Amino acid sequence: GLKGKVALITGSTSGIGLATAHVLAEQGCHIVLHGLMTQDEGTALAAEFTTQYQINTYFSNADLRDPACIHEFMDAAVEQLGSIDILVNNAGIQHTQDVANFPIEKWNDIIAINLSSAFHTIQKVVPAMANKQWGRIINIASVHGLVGSANKVAYCAAKHGIVGLTKVVSIECAEQGITVNAICPGWVDTPLIGKQIDNIASDKNLSYNEAKYQLVTAKQPLPEMLAPRQIGEFVLFLCGGAAKGITGAALPMDGAWTAQ
Ligand code: NAD
Repeated sequence: GLKGKVALITGSTSGIGLATAHVLAEQGCHIVLHGLMTQDEGTALAAEFTTQYQINTYFSNADLRDPACIHEFMDAAVEQLGSIDILVNNAGIQHTQDVANFPIEKWNDIIAINLSSAFHTIQKVVPAMANKQWGRIINIASVHGLVGSANKVAYCAAKHGIVGLTKVVSIECAEQGITVNAICPGWVDTPLIGKQIDNIASDKNLSYNEAKYQLVTAKQPLPEMLAPRQIGEFVLFLCGGAAKGITGAALPMDGAWTAQ
């Protein structure tokens, strides 16, 4: 089992990352929580996990746009919890606009947070995982790592990039007991997509729920959003022994979006 292993999940203060932290903590993993909240809020969240699951925790609000911050927070996490056995690169942001008007700062932030941060975290954990001959690296990509959509130039570039990163690291680490995979979800019910729903609601004068339904069904045949926990359960499966042979894969979880 996974009891006693240490899992670091970036962006685990919200949405998919938080749900994944719960799923892994239920298995007895020690958890490195990370994301943009105050140190006080993060310490409180970590304390809740410790009490609820009888595990060790560490919290950091390191800004993933800064490679030095990433290295610093991962060193601190290893010092506190002993190792990082499971790495889930999950943190991400979105901005939607056509390419001609896409703000350069948004491009730079999305590439840094949704793509480059995973390079930095992976580079940091791989040597220790190789020494142990065991590791699990799971990158939360997106259906937009496999196909494009209008107005998502930076997001699609970053997500396609993380699929490529996943493939290369999986090949390099295949003899070291480390599997590296990307999960490619369709719509997941989290705060990340709230703005896209609000935009449709105001453009078309619809209720929030009507706009949400329109957003989901525009491209995804399954007419509902996934629950964040469903992604967490898939992460758990990929950490288990049955998934030992799954590596280098970009795994759609997209309600038939990319089947079309
Ligand atoms: P969310 O907004 O609920 O959570 C994002 C997390 O990333 C938060 O914890 C936030 O604090 C953290 N984060 C953002 N910017 C950061 C920064 N600069 N430094 C450190 N942490 C930062 O979003 P979510 O929907 O749970 O998204 C999680 C991942 O899943 C993202 O990579 C997203 O692209 C991907 N994804 C989401 C959906 C969806 O429909 N929600 C679909 C496919 C893929």
